[in-house]
Amino acid sequence: MSEVALLDSVITFLAKPLGSFIDGRPALDEQAGVSEIINPANEQVIARVQDATAVQVDAAVAAASRAFKGSWAQTSPYLRGVLLNKLADAIEQHGEELAQLEALNSGKAINVARGLEVAQSVVFLRYFAGWTTKINGESITPSLPSMAGEQYTAFTRREPVGVVAGIVPWNFPLLIAVWKLGSALATGCTIVLKPSEFSPLSLLRLVELATEVGIPDGAINVVTGAGKVGQWLTEHGEVRKVSFTGSVPTGIAVGAAAMKSKLTRVTLELGGKNPAALLADVNIDDVVPGLVMTAFTHQGQICASPERIYVHRSRIDELEQKLGAALAGLKIGSPLDESVQFGPLANKAHYQKIASYFERMGDGQVVVTGGRTVGDKGYFVEPTLLRASSPDDLFLTEETFGPIVCLLAFDSDEELIELLNDTPYGLGASLWTNDLSKALRMIPRIESGTVWVNMHTFLDPAVPFGGSKSSGIGREFGSAFIEAFTELKSVMIRY
Ligand code: NAD
Repeated sequence: MSEVALLDSVITFLAKPLGSFIDGRPALDEQAGVSEIINPANEQVIARVQDATAVQVDAAVAAASRAFKGSWAQTSPYLRGVLLNKLADAIEQHGEELAQLEALNSGKAINVARGLEVAQSVVFLRYFAGWTTKINGESITPSLPSMAGEQYTAFTRREPVGVVAGIVPWNFPLLIAVWKLGSALATGCTIVLKPSEFSPLSLLRLVELATEVGIPDGAINVVTGAGKVGQWLTEHGEVRKVSFTGSVPTGIAVGAAAMKSKLTRVTLELGGKNPAALLADVNIDDVVPGLVMTAFTHQGQICASPERIYVHRSRIDELEQKLGAALAGLKIGSPLDESVQFGPLANKAHYQKIASYFERMGDGQVVVTGGRTVGDKGYFVEPTLLRASSPDDLFLTEETFGPIVCLLAFDSDEELIELLNDTPYGLGASLWTNDLSKALRMIPRIESGTVWVNMHTFLDPAVPFGGSKSSGIGREFGSAFIEAFTELKSVMIRY
């Protein structure tokens, strides 16, 4: 099948001078360094994006601060919801354009870009829009003694923290940015976003749309560039909260820097080594399509994707054979080809990391399928299934963040619980079984921010998401985000 034709609007956007977007307009600086944005499917330069300077980071925070105290503070909760819904409408109207930018920039199969990244951005934004009018404190009756007839009452207010720095990884640049800007704007905060240096394009288009639909200048700003830009932002004295999504080592550095700056609040959504567990009763034919989808969508570059699968010993041979066959049958190719199920890895550094894992394979594990790079142009690799014989295996302990899944057999439920928890991480875990009674007994014993049953990696805006242990601090979505983006102010009154 052939590739979808690029829209004229995509071609025009890519040819434009691109860079930071501050106070409602592009902020370009001829003196700034420029990063080339590479299409991972063919290694060609598709756009050039200026790196933000320290002065531009200051300007972005200043614009966000003005909007926080001015235009956005004066926008009623109802109107904030209306504007967020208008932005969701604009994403729908420009959905194909955004999906094409995503496929070109991050190598996401066009169907995944359309049906997951773009469609879910709309769903999440509308969810946040619904919260704007429902953020309340409570009224309290204190028990203070009345000496001379005086009385007391108290109430709490949920007040926006202020300017938020949103730092975004390369895997879902649009959706993760929407999580951050939706949370910030719904609570009355304003935001400066920093996309990954590898994949800034869809967010740069989104922020143009935000201005077009009438979101006030300065409420959403974007600064482009690498880690240094994120560091300037994290350490900026006027930033009141950092919402970071990325790797564990960077997250720890960001958390420490934010604390050191001014005890700046942080939410850290980090990586993991997520397990899936198949109990003895599973129907392997039912489970295989779900595992392929959850572990190999976007080439496994999803933070919550399972990378280690524990299978009851009585079922592991059947799973190995059927999952291996399903993976060997996936169509690898251009993300712009609608029949392709498996595109390239998102950038060269990550491709090199996964290639180096391939070189370390076979010593201790059986390679069931995959384990090789594909072709000599683009960052293509094979979906890979391994079977280990020891729980200490490298592929059961290190996050690869790629399409590499490792199987291990277990014999008893007690052993399984130990295996699931034997990791510094705790982002997501899943149990696959028809024995719900057993699953419900296991769930409290699993150290993980989310436990799925007969599914994995599904996120819903109403369900809090985040990591336990080294997978992060704080939760996004549900009502949990409100706590993270607001301060609780107590008011006591004597009368
Ligand atoms: P990364 O940590 O390398 O980079 C993330 C972002 O931080 C990028 O924008 C980067 O430029 C910026 N950054 C780098 N150094 C910084 C510094 N010192 N200060 C401030 N910002 C800095 O992560 P990545 O490679 O882009 O993404 C992959 C990782 O993200 C994986 O570990 C994955 O598990 C994790 N992830 C987690 C979630 C989640 O919700 N828990 C979602 C997606 C990805």
